[in-house]
Amino acid sequence: MSHILRKSYLVFPTLTIWLLLVVGCSSSSPPIAVEPTATNEVVLTNTATPLPTATHTPFSTDTPTPKITSTKAPATNTPTASTTATSSATTTPSATATPSATATPSATTTPSDTPTLLPTLVSTVGISQTFLSTVPDPTFDPVFSLTLPDSWPCDCPIEHVVIITIDGLRADALPEADTPILDTVRAHGAFHPTARAVVPSVTLVNHASILGGMTPENHGIMWNINDPALGLIKGPTLFSAAKAYSLTTGMIYAKPKLEHIVLTDSVDSLVHAGYHDTLITASALNQIEAGLPNVLFIHLPNVDSAGHLMGWMSKTQLWALETTDSYIGAIILALDQHGYLDRTLVIITSDHGGVDHKHGADTPEETIIPWFALGPNLKQGLELNEPLFAYDTAPTAAHALGIPIPPEWDGQPVLDIFFHD
Ligand SMILES: [Zn+2]
Repeated sequence: MSHILRKSYLVFPTLTIWLLLVVGCSSSSPPIAVEPTATNEVVLTNTATPLPTATHTPFSTDTPTPKITSTKAPATNTPTASTTATSSATTTPSATATPSATATPSATTTPSDTPTLLPTLVSTVGISQTFLSTVPDPTFDPVFSLTLPDSWPCDCPIEHVVIITIDGLRADALPEADTPILDTVRAHGAFHPTARAVVPSVTLVNHASILGGMTPENHGIMWNINDPALGLIKGPTLFSAAKAYSLTTGMIYAKPKLEHIVLTDSVDSLVHAGYHDTLITASALNQIEAGLPNVLFIHLPNVDSAGHLMGWMSKTQLWALETTDSYIGAIILALDQHGYLDRTLVIITSDHGGVDHKHGADTPEETIIPWFALGPNLKQGLELNEPLFAYDTAPTAAHALGIPIPPEWDGQPVLDIFFHD
């Protein structure tokens, strides 16, 4: 099936978000280094909120003459100070930006977005100063517009499942942000607006449920740190269940603590790509080009990072979400370009929400998460309303792949999304 997908290139949203973080990370910040960092950095010379003009090109020659369909809202809070980061990158940000009438200086932002809070927050959440001063250079084109078939039936069994988690995405952030890619996924697939994370609503515990199909009590991971002495998840996981049927598996992730979910010999391609959505996405595109495993998990961390730094539902976090949306567009486009989209179930969800600058408790803000499913032979435009928990994702993936659901799992496949059970 030929899909009509259009892409555009706009690097600035990423740079804007991380430039803001760079400015807030003063030299007096405590030198905390608990996460790996990227090696590619770019020179940043901040001026008065320039914004680029997006250019759009068709991705294939059989598409109509492209129109500029992306009207992505520009950033509305940007730093006012100048800063320079050491550069080893081979490319630099575009200098051809044109000012936007809607851009405003940071003086008008809410207190929670004030960069001067960052040193304290950096100390609190333990994100490294080096990480904040790094602006990974996108090696791919963000995608702001996808056009998918209105009807997508085909004689094409699902051979691949791609699970993407947007770390820290609160369900009610979606209506507040411009997310054309997720909007398209929702319109052409199934969507649950109030899926539930498990408690404690933290990253590792919930990813263990998402990929392990079990409640925390049964998968055994009740911690949220990286400590090999604590052991591994009590399987089976989606990875090990897939391997038991000779399927291939891959995992691209930002937080090393997620390795607690990786049982021995369960993941063929294990890539700790770095702590930034651009690094994760670039790695995912490389993986897709090299060959898509039957099960691929992709972990995007930026929304969570922005929440910890600037607050959940802050303008900065909503920017991060909008940028993450465009990276997911790049991933879906790559699946299509390499011929996988007709054979792939894509599930996009989150591990938890947040409130103020934290998460972990059993409040709606911290536990209600979105859940999307996209693929051939799925009902389109379906809004789910039956209870759906984090641990239902792995059984849904197993069902789609046609492998048995392990009896140890607590979750149930979300059968409503499929035309044929
Ligand atoms: Zn998380």
